[in-house]
Amino acid sequence: MMKVVSYGGGVNSTAMVIYLINRGDVPDMIVFVDTGAELPETLDYVDYFSAYLKQKVGMEIVITRRNSEGLYNYCLRKRIMPIMKYRWCTSDWKVIPFDKYISQYQGKKTVYVGFDAEEDGRVAGALQKSCNLKNQIKVFPLHDANITRDDCINIIRVEGLKIPPKSGCYICPFTPKREFREMKRNKPELFKKALTLELQHPKGRTIKQGVALKEIDAQGELDFMREYDPSIPCGCSDGQY
Ligand code: SF4
Repeated sequence: MMKVVSYGGGVNSTAMVIYLINRGDVPDMIVFVDTGAELPETLDYVDYFSAYLKQKVGMEIVITRRNSEGLYNYCLRKRIMPIMKYRWCTSDWKVIPFDKYISQYQGKKTVYVGFDAEEDGRVAGALQKSCNLKNQIKVFPLHDANITRDDCINIIRVEGLKIPPKSGCYICPFTPKREFREMKRNKPELFKKALTLELQHPKGRTIKQGVALKEIDAQGELDFMREYDPSIPCGCSDGQY
């Protein structure tokens, strides 16, 4: 059976690939789905890790996309935005393109997903959803081997590689407010794109519930530092849909 890694460019799936290779279980294919709104540092890391894999096992990461328009331009054209509640962006721009890409290969596939030892709920959810998939069996090597997030970081360090940055889209509704603030400071072109998308919404909705990017845009550094913003992890980062 063909073995395919669902690679998200983050800590868990990077550690999972290293773990699989080091135990002699080299996958047949490693697939990263580029939504067209990925953070540039994630795309850089995918290239970096792909170059490492080419040298180590002669395999490069396959990058696939739903289409050339991409999630950002699609949202702009339709005057819509990703929203937390329905996660249509994950389904349409990550899961379906992944399934479509691997379905061009005959037969059943084992799909490796990088949920770790502390993600019982996500493993259960993924197993439930994958019941209906005729041509895929999902497996969770990190979870099965009781490998935690900290262990993942250690696996990458021991391999002598850089730790991947947090993966995701720059228009993700799961982005903590402080990260939008950091985006404004460090990646103003991406912040401007997110702001443009938000401002064109016909009903004045915001990408992140309760946080208007135009207010962040207007805020000074001190105003922002006084605010409390609990981090909410993105549900689909790191290829873990
Ligand atoms: S990272 Fe966020 S915006 Fe991108 S596909 Fe996932 S949920 Fe949607």
